[in-house]
Amino acid sequence: MKFSMIKTLAGKHQSSVRKIMRKYFHDGHFQIQYQSNDKTRTIQLYDSGFKKQPIFLNKAKPKNSRELTNRLLNNRCEWCGLEHHSVSSHQVRKLSELTGNNIWEDKMLQMNRKTLILCPHCHKLLHANLLS
Ligand SMILES: [Zn+2]
Repeated sequence: MKFSMIKTLAGKHQSSVRKIMRKYFHDGHFQIQYQSNDKTRTIQLYDSGFKKQPIFLNKAKPKNSRELTNRLLNNRCEWCGLEHHSVSSHQVRKLSELTGNNIWEDKMLQMNRKTLILCPHCHKLLHANLLS
């Protein structure tokens, strides 16, 4: 990392690594001297590389991460509105696959969802292309 930075600087200043080292490395630190209020100050720009960042395993979940689960647990068909103990989800891979030629595709596009929770009867009709 350190050598890469020096090489980049040398390239940008059209200089050599050796000259950059001589100019900016003092006491084993990469530092620059500058004038401020008639005083010569030194700022250290690079010390010992970049430390590894801690990995946070418990990332915040997206807001609607349980939205589909909740829709399924409602046990309500999103087409006919009836409650049924075994609803299932009809799904498409991408919203762009939906043409909007069917009423149920229109509904999915309006909901902006790739899934539609259906009772077994409605699901059967959908696959038979008879859902209306
Ligand atoms: Zn239904």
